[in-house]
Amino acid sequence: LNQEQKIVIIGCGAGGGTAAQFAKKQHRKSKILILEKGKYPQYSKCGLPYVLSGVIPKLSDLFEFSEEWFKKAGITLSTNTLVDKIDVNKKKVIAKKDDEIIEESYDLLIISTGSKPFIPPIKNIFLKDKLIDGVFSIRTIDDIKKIQNSVKKGKRAVVIGAGFIGLEIADNLNKIGINVKVVEALPQILLTTFDEDMSKIIYNKISEKIDIILNSTVTKIETKNGKINQLLIKNNKTNIEQKIITDFLILAVGCRPEVSLAKNIGCKIGKTGGIIVNEKCETNIKNIYAVGDCTEFLDFVTKRPVQIGLGSIAVRQAITAGINASGGNYLMPKGVLQTRTSKFFGLEIAGVGPTMDFLISDKIVTATFKGFSLPPYFPGGKPISLKVIADKKSGKIISAQAVGNNAAQRINSFATAILAEMTIEDFKKLETAYSPAVAPTIDIVTIVCDIISKKLKIK
Ligand SMILES: Cc1cc2nc3c(=O)[nH]c(=O)nc-3n(C[C@H](O)[C@H](O)[C@H](O)COP(=O)(O)OP(=O)(O)OC[C@H]3O[C@@H](n4cnc5c(N)ncnc54)[C@H](O)[C@@H]3O)c2cc1C
Repeated sequence: LNQEQKIVIIGCGAGGGTAAQFAKKQHRKSKILILEKGKYPQYSKCGLPYVLSGVIPKLSDLFEFSEEWFKKAGITLSTNTLVDKIDVNKKKVIAKKDDEIIEESYDLLIISTGSKPFIPPIKNIFLKDKLIDGVFSIRTIDDIKKIQNSVKKGKRAVVIGAGFIGLEIADNLNKIGINVKVVEALPQILLTTFDEDMSKIIYNKISEKIDIILNSTVTKIETKNGKINQLLIKNNKTNIEQKIITDFLILAVGCRPEVSLAKNIGCKIGKTGGIIVNEKCETNIKNIYAVGDCTEFLDFVTKRPVQIGLGSIAVRQAITAGINASGGNYLMPKGVLQTRTSKFFGLEIAGVGPTMDFLISDKIVTATFKGFSLPPYFPGGKPISLKVIADKKSGKIISAQAVGNNAAQRINSFATAILAEMTIEDFKKLETAYSPAVAPTIDIVTIVCDIISKKLKIK
């Protein structure tokens, strides 16, 4: 690598900020410039829901790396800088900083423009191109500021979308005395991340605390004095409509990759709408990398393209692109496991690998087991339900989902097994740590594999 190489990074989210740090670590002489359209330094989006309840006291607590921090690390972060255009031939980007047009040349470019919230087609949702008063999307610090300004104890809120973010928001609003209802168009909560049987366990637990309206679509917003007042909701099965009075509406129905800059320069965009990247995080255009929510990559098990929407993956892609852009040689695994977790209404949940909807049912074997986190005789044991899916032919572990105590740590063991392409026979012999105050002699991660093992033998 030529010591004068200049790496320009567009976006300072989890992807851009991490890529900058790893590019610098790889080669101290690399000149690194991050251009970020927002006014804040690198902050955690994942922590946003917890500011609503005060679990995280202030929005500024979410700042991870300030402009001063980057400066000390030898990285320039330019905030309030919106990149408008990339000129591939001249190897430069054109941006607007505080209304001034600037141009920055690059030797290597990393696109990490993230994604933007999807706004569902609801009648009256916009007033003069802006979300109507009382309707909010969830992506940035400014979104949370707007919600904080409207939220008052005793008010009513509807959250659309029963995915991880929708349920985290619902939990944090419920904690501060807001009357929350969640509306989900699909027949189950967490449909893309949990199978029906596991999702039911989660649903039963959280619907004790809030109303979750399944199979239903918000079709219309009715207003009073220019502000949201009532929602029209249609049951997708029966077509029966009902009205719900609400003070505000939060949209948590997913995001779409922000790829306009990449598209304009001919970056290949995949089926999911994300920029296609290889294991080095290179796009199809020479010297241009892309990372994070604006990209798509292959699922490790099914090999189908998946849109990236997890900070955990954005960071790992960013490490890869940062090192490679600074002259290193670093590869992502052959696909993403989509290891995921969350906790709401006191319930920890986690999963890894594809759900049954993405698998062919007669090619897999599944087992579910409900056990406890401690031996039966020891006080304080907590319930945990675990489901594992294996390939019928090879016996390889391909997916797992857990609900309950230490779900994430148990799922991390399965992430290791899937990445190492371990079989059920290998994994069921795992020697897990035991002490009655901490864990049972035989952890349920191996018990559930023993059940699958028997099924595999009689298949
Ligand atoms: C509420 C919430 C909770 C979440 N919780 C989790 C979680 O628990 N676990 C998990 O793994 N993931 C979670 N995520 C997802 C995670 O935050 C994202 O996957 C991650 O932020 C992706 O990083 P990124 O850098 O690709 O995109 P972003 O973090 O969105 O960063 C993109 C940046 O690019 C900037 N940008 C865009 N276009 C331009 C332009 N033209 N010029 C200059 N700058 C530009 C944007 O302003 C933005 O700062 C959560 C997300 C949200 C919203």
